[in-house]
Amino acid sequence: MLEQLNNIYKKMEPSCQIFFRAPKGAPGKSDAGPAVEDRTKDDITGSENAILCRQCRRIITRHDEGMEFHGAFRHTFANPHGIVFEIGCFRSAAGCTHIGSLSDEFSWFRGFSWRIALCGSCLTHLGWFYVSTTRMSFYGLILDRLVIPP
Ligand SMILES: [Zn+2]
Repeated sequence: MLEQLNNIYKKMEPSCQIFFRAPKGAPGKSDAGPAVEDRTKDDITGSENAILCRQCRRIITRHDEGMEFHGAFRHTFANPHGIVFEIGCFRSAAGCTHIGSLSDEFSWFRGFSWRIALCGSCLTHLGWFYVSTTRMSFYGLILDRLVIPP
């Protein structure tokens, strides 16, 4: 998976690529069983609205930051390498950090450019930050890399 991510971003500076981390384990084969998720809920008592990085449990955004874009919260896309991502749209994601310059290559949302969004703590690739020519912006975050409260 890490190799695939690096292939996706092979046009970026090599010095940037070393910051990418893929989550441990195969996608969908979660190491976060119910026991782990229960413990997380205890850890963030009073923050049941928080959406966390699955890897390190940093608070990335909040449930009420979720938004619909083109009529839907969830969008499923494949990148040029055939890797499928299911992303959710969020107005903001204060726990993310961005790297790379804005690109409009292969943008999944017409009229929007993107930057890479990483977890600000463990630097796992969590999705993309989208900006339109009219400066509207939002985050598209990869849902299986987050812990989302029910
Ligand atoms: Zn993290």
